[in-house]
Amino acid sequence: MATPYEMALAQYDRAVKHLSLKRGIEAYLRSPKRELTVNFPVRMDDGGVQIFTGYRVHHSTARGPTKGGIRYHPDVTLDEVRALAMWMTWKCAVMNLPYGGAKGGVVCDPKRLSMRELENLTRRYATEISVLMSPEGDIPAPDVNTTPQIMAWIMDTYSMHRGYSVPAVVTGKPVQVGGSLGRNEATGRGVLVATREALGEMNLPLQGARVAVQGFGNVGSVSALLLHQAGARIIAMSDSQGGTLNTKGLDPAALLRHKREGGKLRDFPDGEPIDNATLLTTECDVLIPAALEQQITEENAGRVRAKLIIEGANGPTTPEADAILLSHGVQIVPDILANAGGVVVSYFEWVQDLQSFFWSEEEINKRLEQLMVRAYREVGAAARDKGVDLRTAALVRAIERVAEAIMILGIYP
Ligand code: NAD
Repeated sequence: MATPYEMALAQYDRAVKHLSLKRGIEAYLRSPKRELTVNFPVRMDDGGVQIFTGYRVHHSTARGPTKGGIRYHPDVTLDEVRALAMWMTWKCAVMNLPYGGAKGGVVCDPKRLSMRELENLTRRYATEISVLMSPEGDIPAPDVNTTPQIMAWIMDTYSMHRGYSVPAVVTGKPVQVGGSLGRNEATGRGVLVATREALGEMNLPLQGARVAVQGFGNVGSVSALLLHQAGARIIAMSDSQGGTLNTKGLDPAALLRHKREGGKLRDFPDGEPIDNATLLTTECDVLIPAALEQQITEENAGRVRAKLIIEGANGPTTPEADAILLSHGVQIVPDILANAGGVVVSYFEWVQDLQSFFWSEEEINKRLEQLMVRAYREVGAAARDKGVDLRTAALVRAIERVAEAIMILGIYP
């Protein structure tokens, strides 16, 4: 299988065919602007020292400071972080946020670290990447296995080095230390808006729509909760250890309680156990991959029985799978649009921190909804105009905006 970065490039190459970019710009945007690899020691609870490797990649700074999450996962690679950074550039541009794209990651298994080890690792990694990170330059956020608490440690570490509090250096923090209301739910709320818009276009009701969600973390669980509240029927959910299915509908709040009490999704009393592969090919109206990249591939795409795929995760569908799904008439709302709610409210959080003036949750949700609907409709109109799929249309719109910025800025010196 292609690597995530090869996948991001294949999507890029497909989209630029619809643009007449200057050759220099086309080549410039294929590579990240800068990449940092850090190897650093962390003191462990047993008194020993372990060396960890982390990355921070900036894809583009043409439209503003870079923005993008930090991932803690044993499978993190520089190639993956590079792909995620490029997708962040396109995501910020498609939403018309004044940011370029970045991403970070540390190769680690957070489930095997104590709270103290996690804090030590986070504070040291934050120090190592502080050559790139700042409220004006590069603003990290949560991603897989990183939490508001981890964001608070990053903010505190940076602030300790400055000698004063710098909340705007990171988003996704707890509200008590300058976080934004609505940030925790933002990606899921954006997923809800994208699902509603897409179903509306397909003349399908959200009420009673059968939804299967892969991933039960921030994105998957909140998407399921909000869709359930909006009247959809959540029929299957899974996490890294398996899943549960009930065609009559699951209660995501009860599932969350079950998990918090130490239960596994596959043991949920109101559902049948299913594995992750089965979830992806379950008969449903809406499939929401909200775990990791490359889950829908040429191997299983032909067996997907959803009418609509909403990409909660980044890069869940390979280009080969894309082609198969499109030929089967499956509508796909691409990651850079479907999961953009998180970066939108991260942007609101950063603006609030810079102004030291905080908005109500109602205002945040209203503005998020406006931006999501506007971007969705712009991309939908571009897709109809050009006769292309939503991913290509979203990428074309995004690449166009970044290329325009580069043209206006010119080449230094
Ligand atoms: P998270 O760490 O909160 O949750 C990840 C979930 O995926 C967990 O439930 C985990 O068990 C599950 N998972 C891992 N491997 C799996 C597998 N093979 N099969 C099924 N489930 C598996 O992470 P998150 O923040 O929810 O991020 C999920 C995805 O959404 C990632 O692709 C991330 O880049 C993307 N995303 C996150 C945000 C955000 O604001 N957090 C915003 C946009 C996009």
